[in-house]
Amino acid sequence: MKRDEKKEECIFCKIVKKEIPSAEVYEDELVKAFLDINPVTYGHTLLITKDHFPLMTDVPDEVVSHAFKVAKRLMKNIKKAYKADFVTLAVVGIDVCHFHIHLIPRKRSDGIPIFWPTGEYEEGEMEREAERIRSHISKDLKV
Ligand SMILES: [Zn+2]
Repeated sequence: MKRDEKKEECIFCKIVKKEIPSAEVYEDELVKAFLDINPVTYGHTLLITKDHFPLMTDVPDEVVSHAFKVAKRLMKNIKKAYKADFVTLAVVGIDVCHFHIHLIPRKRSDGIPIFWPTGEYEEGEMEREAERIRSHISKDLKV
């Protein structure tokens, strides 16, 4: 399937074009934030780019920078609005193929588990795995 075909049926693009209604909380020229219809907690907000980019790695630097600046401010506002202890920020990347940031107001007592299992490294594996990443770091990493 071509990227353009996906864009036409993308639910987030339809929300940007107002073909599908959303409970909007913020919008500017580059991003839009609205409530997730299946919230982890009340106030669970999705911040999306207005243009269609499947993954965060597809988003131009200036747009992704703007999105995270807005996310930081929204986190403060959402924390206040819900008297939350903290706001979880997550970029999952497997549910809807249009870059989006989850902002989820949380209480320490909410009982929501960490959503992935964790493991441990064997002796020496951490350095080996760090070197695996370091050997793939491109020269454009410095911003
Ligand atoms: Zn889209």
